[in-house]
Amino acid sequence: MTVVESSTEHGMFVDGGFVAGDGLEWTQIRDPATGDEVGKAPQAGAAEAELAVQAAAAAFPAWAEKPAAARGEVLRAAAERVHEEVEPLALLLTREQGKPLREARLELARFVHTIEHYAGLAKAIRGGYVPALDERAHGLILRRPLGVVVAVVPWNFPTTLLANKLGPALLVGNTVVAKPAETTPLTTLRIAALMHEAGVPAGVFNVVTGKGSELGPLLVRHPLVRKVAFTGSTPVGREVMALAAEGTKRLTLELGGSDPMIICADADLDGAVSAASVGRFFNCGQACLAVKRLYVEETVADEVVEKLVGKAGRLRVGPGTQEGVTLGPLHTAGQREAIEEQLADALERGGELLHGGKRPEGEPYDAGFFYEPTLVLEPARDAKVATEEVFGPVLPIWRVSGLDEAIDLANGSPFGLGSSIFTRDLDSATLAAERLEAGYTWINSPQKIYDELPFGGVGESGFGKEHGIEALDYYTDLKSVVVKRGA
Ligand code: NAP
Ligand code: MG
Repeated sequence: MTVVESSTEHGMFVDGGFVAGDGLEWTQIRDPATGDEVGKAPQAGAAEAELAVQAAAAAFPAWAEKPAAARGEVLRAAAERVHEEVEPLALLLTREQGKPLREARLELARFVHTIEHYAGLAKAIRGGYVPALDERAHGLILRRPLGVVVAVVPWNFPTTLLANKLGPALLVGNTVVAKPAETTPLTTLRIAALMHEAGVPAGVFNVVTGKGSELGPLLVRHPLVRKVAFTGSTPVGREVMALAAEGTKRLTLELGGSDPMIICADADLDGAVSAASVGRFFNCGQACLAVKRLYVEETVADEVVEKLVGKAGRLRVGPGTQEGVTLGPLHTAGQREAIEEQLADALERGGELLHGGKRPEGEPYDAGFFYEPTLVLEPARDAKVATEEVFGPVLPIWRVSGLDEAIDLANGSPFGLGSSIFTRDLDSATLAAERLEAGYTWINSPQKIYDELPFGGVGESGFGKEHGIEALDYYTDLKSVVVKRGA
């Protein structure tokens, strides 16, 4: 192994330092807005996966034995160190991912907040005590860490989706091997180094880089790995589930979504339209939680459409590093082609194009994967934009006769991640919260994630929870102990 030090030509971060396996190929990381090279990362193979898992396994006993409060202190210091570096990290994140700088700063602030949130839960970790189980016997319920956790993270929110796993996993005493997406490893590597600098011991948090299809299975299958926390697409999630089953491993799957938003006739239409627009166009539409289907009560549909077209027209498309830009490029050429195909299907199947629907042309657009914010009205109800996940800035809108129809259509998707409703009627809001099949329902609120509330989908959106004190359950096992006293 060679030790590598440059800040954008990172090796992997294993056992407290940057290393690069000798003779490995390196992936060029390119800016989706310009095509420029941002840095490089090695493509790890079996030897590097082994090294990282062994480092995590070796670090586990000492980390697990530390008092929880001491682990909390380390996490707090690590969050603080990342916070100090938010500006350079945000720029790196924008360059490797494409999102506007303002959104990159928000993402990193979320990373810091989540790690701090879990640091603050250190003293809330609890087991149990059951008195008088039997004559002279009582029971104890121990809450114990699992061991080595593999965290697989996609490219859309490389750092927050990592924090969601890292915070609870490390707090309760596990050690982690993270696998960022092949196209967004640089910010993650830098964060690992900063956290180590701030006191996270060597081997407790490792990052290996490379192709998911090769490296992912090596990590998931490794016999020393006890839990896999995966965020990504539903098809890959299913593969990971099958691999984890081979070793009877604990698993959390945060997968795709196709979140419906319902706007009732009595709603605050400006608030609703603003939530729909942010919810669809944030991160250029590349979010698991995003408003991906809009159902509007027909009596207010024209007004909602007009307001939405106005909002879309005010978005500024451009490179994320440019001041004032609110819609960056898509992350890859493939992402853009996928939404182009979905939009073409929607237009063939009766949809009316209200706004956008093409690549912007000229400078600076030709160099990147840009796409205009797009609104399409009333495509067939089983068009691809309704049945598939749309991972880009395209919002389909349907008119509905009332709440019952809206809820039926909203639930007509195999996904069940987020959902939202805008209404001033308490009964409608309550009914929607009870009947929408999803892990989250927002009422008169943008789709914002809170560290205090458990988050995770149902159906093809996966299972298991991140966020909330509830996430600790997914990184611990309960063990029962019976204590019998002498006569
Ligand atoms: P993806 O293809 O499933 O990739 C996700 C991660 O899995 C990447 O790190 C990828 O590595 C890795 N991977 C690929 N093949 C693997 C395998 N066989 N075994 C183990 N790991 C493997 O997802 P994506 O399309 O890039 O990301 C977008 C998807 O993530 C969307 O569906 C989105 O809805 C979902 N998502 C869900 C949530 C949530 O919380 N529910 C949050 C964000 C995103 P490479 O990049 O190297 O291929
Ligand atoms: Mg992929």
